[in-house]
Amino acid sequence: MSAQPGGAAPIRRGSPLPFLGATMNVNEALRAICSTGEGFCWYCDSKLPAADSAIREGWDVQRMAGDRVATIILVCPTCLHAEG
Ligand SMILES: [Zn+2]
Repeated sequence: MSAQPGGAAPIRRGSPLPFLGATMNVNEALRAICSTGEGFCWYCDSKLPAADSAIREGWDVQRMAGDRVATIILVCPTCLHAEG
């Protein structure tokens, strides 16, 4: 029942997600993050719903420039609207 330590590192809440690739398709990124079950809004910590729901609801994936690798963050529709 408990996860095995030493396995794949879970993505921490509120942490940028590693993004590997030269281009980013938001829908594909949402599906990839959903598949990990570890997606949370960068701002309010809302849990990412199923990919289809997230796409329909308007979740966004935004790229952040990192020192070594580009990272992406999730933004829920509520926070997107709050940002204006
Ligand atoms: Zn949010």
